[in-house]
Amino acid sequence: MRKIYVSVFALLLGSAAFAQNDNNPKSNHGNKFEQLGQMLADPNEYRSASGAPGPKYWQQKADYDISATLDDEKQRLDGVETITYYNNSPDPLSYTWIQLDENEHKKDGESSKFDESKMKDKMSLRDLQGIMGHNLDLGDHIVSIKDEAGNPLTYIINETMMRVELPQTLKPGAKFKFKIAWWYNISDRLTIGGRGGYEYFPEDKNYLYTMAQWYPRMAVYSDFQGWQNKQFTGRGEFALTFGDFKVSLNVPADHFVGGTGVCSNYAQTLTPAQLKRWEQAQTAKEPIEIVTLGEVKKQMLGHATARKTWQFHAENVRDFAWVSSRRVVWDAMATHIDGGKTVMAMSIYGPEAYPLYRRYSTKLVAHTLKVYSKHTFPYPYPAATSVEASNGMEYPMICFNNGRADKDGTYSEAVKYAMTGVIIHEVGHNFFPMIVNSDERQWTWMDEGLNTFCQFLAEQEWDNKYPSQRGPAAKIVDYMKLPADQLEPIMTNSENIVRFGPNAYSKPATALNILRETVMGRQLFDYAFKTYAHRWAFKHPTPTDFFRTMEDASAVDLDWYWRGWFYGIDPVDISLDSVKYYRLDTKNPEVERSYNQAQFDKNLQSISATRNKEEGIKFAVEADTALSDFYGKYDRFAATPLSKQSYEAMYSALSPQEKKFYENKNYFYELDLSNKGGCVMPLIIEWTYADGTKEVERISAYIWRKNEKNITKVFAKNKEVKSIKIDPYRETADIDENNNSWPREYTPSRFELFKSQGGVRGASSGTNPMKESLKKN
Ligand SMILES: [Zn+2]
Repeated sequence: MRKIYVSVFALLLGSAAFAQNDNNPKSNHGNKFEQLGQMLADPNEYRSASGAPGPKYWQQKADYDISATLDDEKQRLDGVETITYYNNSPDPLSYTWIQLDENEHKKDGESSKFDESKMKDKMSLRDLQGIMGHNLDLGDHIVSIKDEAGNPLTYIINETMMRVELPQTLKPGAKFKFKIAWWYNISDRLTIGGRGGYEYFPEDKNYLYTMAQWYPRMAVYSDFQGWQNKQFTGRGEFALTFGDFKVSLNVPADHFVGGTGVCSNYAQTLTPAQLKRWEQAQTAKEPIEIVTLGEVKKQMLGHATARKTWQFHAENVRDFAWVSSRRVVWDAMATHIDGGKTVMAMSIYGPEAYPLYRRYSTKLVAHTLKVYSKHTFPYPYPAATSVEASNGMEYPMICFNNGRADKDGTYSEAVKYAMTGVIIHEVGHNFFPMIVNSDERQWTWMDEGLNTFCQFLAEQEWDNKYPSQRGPAAKIVDYMKLPADQLEPIMTNSENIVRFGPNAYSKPATALNILRETVMGRQLFDYAFKTYAHRWAFKHPTPTDFFRTMEDASAVDLDWYWRGWFYGIDPVDISLDSVKYYRLDTKNPEVERSYNQAQFDKNLQSISATRNKEEGIKFAVEADTALSDFYGKYDRFAATPLSKQSYEAMYSALSPQEKKFYENKNYFYELDLSNKGGCVMPLIIEWTYADGTKEVERISAYIWRKNEKNITKVFAKNKEVKSIKIDPYRETADIDENNNSWPREYTPSRFELFKSQGGVRGASSGTNPMKESLKKN
């Protein structure tokens, strides 16, 4: 554990130091456009310089055969599992590391102590629990660990990590089979916290079990960091090995069980009527209720003493999660994935979620799989299930989401949008990190950021007016406006991130969206992003592999972009400081007359001349007509036969190209721009002409290469320009739009004289017009 901790620490320190010092430190104009060089991991035979897996890429495999028994009276889970571990690495191994995530909840666990805490005006039960701790018997109890022959194996538990010593060195290419017996008391998820556990419904005295991180799981051993045994503290999520699962779950006979993979004994676990509905769902175009609300309402009243065992199997998954309860409806619908297969889209939910989930959940599952498949690879698993559990957490083929209606069946628009977003997000996690299996403990952004980006794509394809909170550039501005000491790079270890939501979800999602819409364009981005997903599906990518692949597949140098958005904290603020306007002197006396006259008059102006005139002074040359001569009436800029002649002579001597240039009436605008934010970005300029037409011009961020702070550039236009605006579509996350226009244009705003208490606001509030409409009727 310490070894990994130290190396991660060194890596971060290294990055910060490199950001200032590496590659051309003596440059007089900064190094924002220098290649990343040593900030990336060295390529080797496992990971190629192109960002693809190398010719000798390897990864470990762990198969599980698990039998577990759920005690609904004591809220306890007992299990026995056989792990077959395949050493595909070139290294001999003398021990293995197993993750005991339930130890996160252990009394006096290390992770409960090192988080800061503060007293607030209102303290929730969970806040108090966090401070006072608990006195419950939570955490894993290891009953035995034995090898295939039944001999006990030596092990030691360090918090959430367990080292099991192997009886003999596990050679490259060899496998090792061992058996762990364990049990633990299931925790109350709503008071203890965490991703798995139970929720108790006092009205009907029933439990909803959402079982996650419930069995001892193999840690990842990889080419880039050896064993990933950095402790689970509840924050940085998981690093897991792919494998095949066979799982038997013994539960009360009146429970319904859903899980990762496919259930192979519905004939034994469902009623004949339910089994028939399940068969109908295989070809259904609309969700079919297999376990119906009517059946659930009846079932909720009793408590079966008999028991049933549900059999599941799943291939090539990195984890297994499940749900068990007597108070859940189950619906399903078949959905076809382009270029792939027919997948069962399914939902499991209690009566309180029925008004929302019955209409939306399964269709959202199908929509998510389709949109993500289009942007990555066809969804390869046979099923995907959305479970309502009033939280948001992802597992292969199954995820836990929220979205409950009020007792009268109504709900606010805010609840509906939140449900839509969370279902897309958690189902979307099937792609990142369940299939593109990055190390979540180390890099949260690699799954949350990529997934939140794809969530945005799916939300926008669900509804053109969907109020996406993460993805659009303008939504990250408030975060990027924070003082520098409150910001941290995206490339920060999961455990150390202070502002988790903006840093690991919103900023990377926004950065990818800007890359797609503004820097690379959809065509180049989509191909490269897809290439990354294809290359690393069912493998373990690192940030270096992602950064390299995006460039390798697009021919767009993005090192400056990774520096700015992923390794840096600078915001974008490009200011249009001044505009100078030039026109060609045509020498044509008819064209230039008024300009020349105006310049001449301007030269004669002075405050004294103006005030003298205002005072009514009688000027001598006006009072005494005798002073008037030829020059008193002379029009010095009038076109005379002679001046016209000389112009025509000059014009006819021009070459055809020079004449063309003359006729284009060129207008020249010299723009001074400064990079006030620090993050270099492309220049997007909207020109509004005097005739009312507009033109948008896009210039690569390379414009800042030789001077990262100030640039001057001249633009030739064939029409007069009335105004200029930088970033007219608000696509670069510019934190100060007041300096984006010429002439200056200030953003209108509103303020309230008296702050009203909880007035009617938009969809972001919890108001429920659906309920209001019920009252009227
Ligand atoms: Zn997520």
